[in-house]
Amino acid sequence: MIDIAIVGGGPAGLNAGLYAKRGGASVRLFEEMFTGGQIVKTHRVDNYLGFSDGPDGYTLGAAFEQHISKLGLEPDYTPVLKLELSDNRKVLTLPDGQVEAKTVILCMGASPRLLGAKGEDIYSGNGISYCATCDGAFYRDKTVAVIGGGDTAVSDAVYLSALCKKVYIIHRRDALRASELLQQSAFSKPNIEVVWNTTVEEFVGEQSLSGITLKDKLTGEIRTLNIDGAFVAVGIVPRTELIADQLALADDGSIETDKYMETSVKGVFAAGDIRNTPLRQVITACADGAVAASRALELC
Ligand code: NAP
Repeated sequence: MIDIAIVGGGPAGLNAGLYAKRGGASVRLFEEMFTGGQIVKTHRVDNYLGFSDGPDGYTLGAAFEQHISKLGLEPDYTPVLKLELSDNRKVLTLPDGQVEAKTVILCMGASPRLLGAKGEDIYSGNGISYCATCDGAFYRDKTVAVIGGGDTAVSDAVYLSALCKKVYIIHRRDALRASELLQQSAFSKPNIEVVWNTTVEEFVGEQSLSGITLKDKLTGEIRTLNIDGAFVAVGIVPRTELIADQLALADDGSIETDKYMETSVKGVFAAGDIRNTPLRQVITACADGAVAASRALELC
């Protein structure tokens, strides 16, 4: 039996690993794909203290991993297939067997939310993307739309404005949710245009996406906007499929925790975007990981 099993290698999981390892625990950190989490899709992290030049997310994620690697913690690149979590027993099922841990820290993060508009499934990956940093280069000198009004949508639009001829932000309200600084940056770009009070009714095209059908919520007017690509950025969904009915969840599907990041099951913690948190940032995910690991150490 190990002391601490960490599931997920984003900022929360890596920082939990750092604290757990420094605390002398036997730790394993499981990551199914690559470390860094959602930040590897971010072209610039502007608000992580100490990095005023805004490193790209990939570089920051790699620096996090190097740090834990120096302490001797290498992530296990394997999916966790099943989690059985109770006050008395915590078992992780992997492709090649099972691991039992005294404590578990859940750091699986969140995935992009689908918009749910007609045609989204048809053109997903063929004109519709959920990651501007990954796919923006395909739309060099082209016209794109970003759907959403939060930090992700507006920062994606700013990033795309340097590559694309024209960037529309399609937002369902008359005010953006994104931070003031991001908004200022977007409004200063001559090739960004915000389409207010508008919803996407349908993604249209033939072989690939060629336009979006929009509805003006104030006038009811329906029109088609010709675009080469669409970037959907309408929020995130906590990745809780592995824990299903085992832990108490908040209304938005995130995991409820106390101030120590402990969930409704003793010795099971949640940290970062997967938990019910008022702020989803790299710095808060790292802090969650640190708090969870420190408390888990006390239980080992
Ligand atoms: P978010 O803050 O939840 O914003 C989602 C946006 O999508 C909102 O503007 C929302 O509109 C819109 N939306 C949601 N459902 C929609 C639908 N069905 N149709 C049309 N529009 C819809 O999500 P996010 O921007 O992905 O950010 C997630 C978290 O990561 C946030 O905590 C954010 O602060 C953080 N983040 C931070 C940074 C940064 O600091 N640089 C960068 C990226 C993300 P309404 O406004 O009308 O609700």
